[in-house]
Amino acid sequence: MEKISWPEGKTFAFTVFDDTDRATPGNFERVYDCLRDNGMRTTKSVWPIRGSPNHKVGGATCEDPEYLAYIRELRGDGFEIGFHGATYHSSERATIARGLEYFRDLFGSYPRTMANHASLAENIYWGDARLSGNRRRAYKLLNFRGLCFHGHREESPYFWGDLCRDHIDYVRNFITGDLNTLKSYPCMPYYDPERPFVKQWFSSSEGPDLHSFTRTISEENQDRLEAEGGACIMYTHFAAGFQDTNGDLNRRFKDLVKRLASKNGWFVPVATFLDYVRQQRGEQVIDATERARMERQWIKHKIRTGGVS
Ligand SMILES: [Zn+2]
Repeated sequence: MEKISWPEGKTFAFTVFDDTDRATPGNFERVYDCLRDNGMRTTKSVWPIRGSPNHKVGGATCEDPEYLAYIRELRGDGFEIGFHGATYHSSERATIARGLEYFRDLFGSYPRTMANHASLAENIYWGDARLSGNRRRAYKLLNFRGLCFHGHREESPYFWGDLCRDHIDYVRNFITGDLNTLKSYPCMPYYDPERPFVKQWFSSSEGPDLHSFTRTISEENQDRLEAEGGACIMYTHFAAGFQDTNGDLNRRFKDLVKRLASKNGWFVPVATFLDYVRQQRGEQVIDATERARMERQWIKHKIRTGGVS
């Protein structure tokens, strides 16, 4: 795969897709203040509609006026708003459709980027369906919970594959431990003919919580990303300990973001970044060889880290 020249004479690219898990007013905003003050624009996902109360992993939805006001402010400042499912628990097709329409009413267009959330039944090509052939069988044997996901199964009440294909441009799948996501997954964004309800897939770098995020964006890794002229999309949950209960932002995170931002990087939201890569390279359609390579690489990563969602 040929090397990409980044726009505006930039040396490398860096962005984040933030899964909204547990984010509620007062527990994540300092993270965004920090990114904004350092000139970074990234992608924050939302759940548009309120779910049932007392669910194990919840968080604010766009039906919370205080939260929505902040999300709109972020959008006004140039952050992208992405989709993390209709709400924080499983939803059947009609609810997902309502969630997408409500998103459009709120923000003027459908979400361009999406990531499956944890164990939602409507997750699309998730669980063992992320893999093919022998690798799918091996995954089932190793178990990783053995849950079943239905977003792409037309016979299921949780089917919404056609809505995903018609409205959403980019969906997250594989993860790497390397800060340079594009080095591990050089085809991204790509179309997988065996998974036709997703228009384009992207991958991410490991960082689901404060500890793993700061480990992945360490000084050494930042310097390597820059030297390689690479590109990173971090996978994270910015409500997972980045801001403490006093409202203070973690010092190590703040220092690392400041250091990274002082470099000659291109810091734009996920869809903006992926549009640019597509425009430079044309559409990428993966074949069986590349699919197998990516799947093997992801399984190895998953075994090393002991579980990635
Ligand atoms: Zn999630």
